[in-house]
Amino acid sequence: STDSVQQLAWDMVQALEQDDFFLNYQPQINLSTGQLLGVETLIRWRHPQLGLVSPATFIPIAEKNGLIVPIGYWVLKQSCLQYQKWRALGIPPFKISVNLSLRQLQEENLVPRIQAILHETQMNPQALALEVTESLMYQEPEKVIARLTRLKQMGIQVAIDDFGVGYSSLSYLKNLPLHILKIDKSFLDDLVDTEKDQVILQSIIELGHRLNLEIVAEGVETQGQLELLKTMNCDYGQGYLFSRPLGLDDITPFFQTFQKSGLIKSHSVLALA
Ligand code: C2E
Ligand code: CA
Ligand code: CA
Repeated sequence: STDSVQQLAWDMVQALEQDDFFLNYQPQINLSTGQLLGVETLIRWRHPQLGLVSPATFIPIAEKNGLIVPIGYWVLKQSCLQYQKWRALGIPPFKISVNLSLRQLQEENLVPRIQAILHETQMNPQALALEVTESLMYQEPEKVIARLTRLKQMGIQVAIDDFGVGYSSLSYLKNLPLHILKIDKSFLDDLVDTEKDQVILQSIIELGHRLNLEIVAEGVETQGQLELLKTMNCDYGQGYLFSRPLGLDDITPFFQTFQKSGLIKSHSVLALA
């Protein structure tokens, strides 16, 4: 109801003040070498009465009422601070991907705010990727493109998220300054049994490669999907098959295991920028 939406909005303001938000991190894996590319940051909310509230519930509300702007800056700053803590623990450089909502991209001072956060946290922009969805050209596309271009010039990578589900995917590929294309999970769901889906996926991967993009498949859950993605030359995968999104207590040992086995090393990504 409207009331409960309004209540959740108030609760989000409180959550920012009381530190009820926290982050999970989901690994992204190089499919041909098994190396860790990096992690995507995913926000979580521990509500004092309701318990864990899914971002699928509260992010759309925060996007409507504008709270996503302060929440988004909080996520970015926490991600950078945490990255620096990992580096201080001796974990080699990797890439950290942070979601950026359309609402944030419409902010006049987005670029200086991001610059300030990078400066405050001494974050290397080349270790940062921002994930934006296809809906982002909804309004003032020229301004959005100009902001993304500035971010790119700073060394930040831009990923197009949920690729393929929007209504004008191909024009985004043409017009946006992108590095990474994340294929939406819906293309993987029936992949193993459906030849048509295989043809579509293979074509997206080839198209992306010819545009010099790196391809990440989202929602990889089965060995069968993995095998197909490898034969299709998909670069990276993210999904429950490799790891669920992990809290801080679980991701740090995960990194250390990867580090011991030599799987966090030579970052193609960092060399790319
Ligand atoms: P997304 O950016 O597409 O993130 C991927 C979602 O897929 C995550 O859901 C992740 O937990 C889930 N996922 C990953 N691997 C698998 C898999 O193998 N199978 C299945 N079934 N799901 C998988 P989550 O964490 O619930 O986030 C949902 C959405 O909320 C995100 O979708 C993103 O749009 C939004 N979101 C999350 N954190 C943030 C944030 O910090 N800022 C913004 N603006 N949006 C966020
Ligand atoms: Ca994402
Ligand atoms: Ca996605």
